[in-house]
Amino acid sequence: MNGLVSLSAVMTGCLAKAEFAYPNKMFKCMDGNPFPRGLENVGFKKEQHGLPMTKLVRSCSIWRALEIMGDSSAMMILEAAWLGARTFGQFQNATGLRRALLSDRLKRIVEKDVMCKALYSERPARYEYRLTEKGQGLYWMSLMMLRWERIWGDQSQVVKVKLTHKKCGQIFEPLPLCATCGHEYSAFEVDWEEGPGVGTMAANYVRRRQHRDAIAERNSGSAIMVEVAQIMGDRWAVLVLRALFTGLNSFDRIREDSGAATNILTERLNWMQTLGLVNHNDEEAGGKKTGYRLTRKSTDIFPILLMLMRWGDTYYASPEGAPVLLTHEPNGHNLSPVVACSACREELDVHDVTYELEWPDGVEQNFANPIEEA
Ligand SMILES: [Zn+2]
Ligand SMILES: [Zn+2]
Repeated sequence: MNGLVSLSAVMTGCLAKAEFAYPNKMFKCMDGNPFPRGLENVGFKKEQHGLPMTKLVRSCSIWRALEIMGDSSAMMILEAAWLGARTFGQFQNATGLRRALLSDRLKRIVEKDVMCKALYSERPARYEYRLTEKGQGLYWMSLMMLRWERIWGDQSQVVKVKLTHKKCGQIFEPLPLCATCGHEYSAFEVDWEEGPGVGTMAANYVRRRQHRDAIAERNSGSAIMVEVAQIMGDRWAVLVLRALFTGLNSFDRIREDSGAATNILTERLNWMQTLGLVNHNDEEAGGKKTGYRLTRKSTDIFPILLMLMRWGDTYYASPEGAPVLLTHEPNGHNLSPVVACSACREELDVHDVTYELEWPDGVEQNFANPIEEA
C-alpha cells in the first residue's frame, strides 16, 4: 500500500518553544567550580574538598544529543513519527514497545522539547504527538541514516522510501555535501579540532536498559531502518565511533573518552566487530598494536554523526561556541555539512521534500494512515 506523505504535513502543528538549554551547567564540579577544559582532563579526577571521585568524559554536541536520542526506543519513536504516527496507539503499533516504556519515552521526548503533545479531540480528551521545530531538526540525521541503511542494510523487509525534491521535481538520494565548497565530503577528508566549547563533564548516565534487539524484532512493515537504528540508538556504539573518528584507537583511550565500563565497552566492541563496523588489530607488523580501526561500513556513518552534532550544536551549544571545529581538506576551509539533493545538488529544505512509502509484499500497513497530500 502506498501513500504520499508531505513532510510539512507530518511535522507542523507544534509551536517551537524559544527555549535553549545551556548545558554548561553540567560542566560544574560538585563544588560548583567549572572543570578545567580540554581533552587531557578526560579520565578520573580526584575531587577536592573530600568529595568523591568523579568520572570525567569529553563532552561535545554528540554527547549531549545522545542524552536524548542515544536510545533505541527514541530512535524507533522518531522513525514512526516520520512514517506518520501521531497517536499513542499508532506509536505503539509502529514501535512494538510496551505501553509503560513507550509512555515513559514519549514523556521524556516531550520534556526535551523534541515532540509536543497536542489535544486533537476534546470529548473524550485525546492527544497526539508531533515533532517540534527542534524535533524536525533531526530530519537531517534521519536522512543520512536512511542513506546508510540503503547502502549497507538489508533492504528486503523494510518499508521503501521514495524521496522527491519538489523544487527540481526529481526523485533523489540524500547526499552529504559541504556547503562551503559544494562537494560531497567523506570522513577521510575531514579534520577534527577541538573548538572553544569543548569541555569535560561528569559522566552521569541515565540508567537505561538497551533494547537493541527490539529494533530488529518489531513489525518489519513499520521499519525504514533497522541496522542503522540499532547502531545510532546505542549510545556506547556511537561514542566508540566518535572516539575512532577523532583518532583515539586503543581500548584504554576509547574507554576514557566514552566513560564506558570495561565490560560494557568489551561487549560493544565485540558486537561492532560482528557487524563489520570495527577492525581490531592487536599485533600487526612486528607486534605493533594498531588497536581499533574504522571500516568502510562505519566510515559511512560519519555524515550521520555530523548531522547529529550539528543538531546538538544548534540546541545545546555552550556559550563559548562549537565544541568541535571541522576542516574540509585539502583546501582547509571550514566544513559546513548539509544534506543535498543528488539530482540538482541543492541544499534541501525540510518543506521541499515529499516521500512515498512502499510496504514490503504481504505486510499490512497497520499503524498509521499517511496524510494525503492536499
Ligand atoms: Zn568543502
Ligand atoms: Zn533537487
